[in-house]
Amino acid sequence: MGVKAPFSGLFGDHLAAWLDLRRELGQGLPVNDSPLTMIAAHAHPDDESSKGGATMAKYAAEGIRVVVATFTGGERGDVLNPKFPDDRELLADLPAVRRREMAQAAAILGVEQRFLGFVDSGLPEGDPLPPLPEGSFASLAPEVAAEPLVELIRQVRPQVVTTYDPSGGYPHPDHVQTHRATVRALELAADPAFRPDLGEPFTVHKIYYDQAFSLDRIKAIHQAMTERGIESPYDEWLRERPKRQLNKQRITTQVRVPEFFSVRDAALRAHASQVDPDGWFFVAPRDIEAEVWPHEDFELVSSTVPVTIPEDDLFAGLR
Ligand SMILES: [Zn+2]
Repeated sequence: MGVKAPFSGLFGDHLAAWLDLRRELGQGLPVNDSPLTMIAAHAHPDDESSKGGATMAKYAAEGIRVVVATFTGGERGDVLNPKFPDDRELLADLPAVRRREMAQAAAILGVEQRFLGFVDSGLPEGDPLPPLPEGSFASLAPEVAAEPLVELIRQVRPQVVTTYDPSGGYPHPDHVQTHRATVRALELAADPAFRPDLGEPFTVHKIYYDQAFSLDRIKAIHQAMTERGIESPYDEWLRERPKRQLNKQRITTQVRVPEFFSVRDAALRAHASQVDPDGWFFVAPRDIEAEVWPHEDFELVSSTVPVTIPEDDLFAGLR
């Protein structure tokens, strides 16, 4: 079953054209010399920990300001951890549970976190797919979905922003919309004509797609586990992958973070209603991971500062 992107065609072409234009015109902008800051845009609480969490923990530990922007409250997520207590009172207000879990995960990573106030669209299932719930995040025009992030970018003034690639990295409409809303927000935040009431216009220097689940990484860990006689959790994932129409990943930047894998894991486990502490994410022994793939991967899609690819730092060229 494939999930259709909620928007395709013209709008995606517009974003790609804007990124190209920025690459041409953005060079030579004066470097923002305020303290190093990044925003990581994510769809749901828990995505920040599973995608780039170790990198954020590393930068936060260095004293860099890291702000996670979470578009939705994860309202339509079910309890996905079979070991989570079956407490009716607790589960009566799942959004409140998820806010508490998010606060705990942010504290573990050492980052700031803001909810951008949209409602989770849920993962539609069926053929044909049912329409997106009215008013849900993925059902909104990208301009509307981008607004709170425009305001946050203009307030926080980050040199670096990370988001998902056009496929969403995962076939969930909120992840695809996170890509579109973030890239649109980056464009609008820099536009002095757009909503001056949301703050002074601001141009972000470096824009990245998070590629936490790159094919090369999964293959390397799968192979290392298989060679050591350990059952790999990625067998089915690798077999299913060709059916998912994912964009070709272009890894430009690998941030070395083995000492932060345990921090990332603890932050992800803090999302206790969503994450089985013995689930597939945790199955690969971390010493094997540290040996064969000791970094998290990103794709630099636009930079206004000169860079040399490959990089090992999202802030390369900015410090
Ligand atoms: Zn998600």
